[in-house]
Amino acid sequence: RHAGAMADGSWYDADIDHVIISEEQIREKIAELAKQVSADHADAEGGILLVCVLKGAVMFMADFARALGHHGPSTEMEFMAVSSYGQGTTTSGVVRILKDLDRDITGRHVVVVEDIVDSGLTLSWLMKYLQSRSAASVEVVALFRKPDAVKVQVPVKYVGFDIPNEFVVGYGLDFAERYRELPYVGVLRPEVYARS
Ligand code: 5GP
Ligand code: MG
Ligand code: MG
Repeated sequence: RHAGAMADGSWYDADIDHVIISEEQIREKIAELAKQVSADHADAEGGILLVCVLKGAVMFMADFARALGHHGPSTEMEFMAVSSYGQGTTTSGVVRILKDLDRDITGRHVVVVEDIVDSGLTLSWLMKYLQSRSAASVEVVALFRKPDAVKVQVPVKYVGFDIPNEFVVGYGLDFAERYRELPYVGVLRPEVYARS
């Protein structure tokens, strides 16, 4: 039995080879991140505008926004959906906007809420885009970061966990649109890929 499993087990536990980050670790880390972001934005005029990149960051957005709520300043939420044109599993950095911001962000203090930074190409495009829309400041909070992320010069100010270069699922992260509801982050058993 791994750390993230419920007493009576959940359907997905059987598909997980091992847990990388437990539900408890995620909860504690988000509280820490919220404290830091709050302290750094204490004087941010108009509060913080959280920008969530769908869909992987939805769980993090929901929990992070609530944690931030304990400290302030006030927050507003925006959601964007982008699609990057890539070759197979690699991201090219060329991005198409599927769902844009609903509002003008001129003069706003933006915090991009990201699930995981891997190549960082999508994120570096997004940073430029938000800056071009005249935000007062743009910072990034990413819950997970993979080793390759250091190769790209993306200033991710707040990072939750550095994780190994493995494909992970859970807490918003999917494999073929599944496993997003897992409360922890883990690696799938090889049989799961063979089955699909
Ligand atoms: P990149 O940083 O390469 O532009 O892309 C990051 C995006 O790729 C993340 O937002 C996430 O959607 C996806 N991604 C990167 N690594 C993983 C992983 O290990 N598991 C899953 N499910 N998605 C990942
Ligand atoms: Mg993402
Ligand atoms: Mg995905």
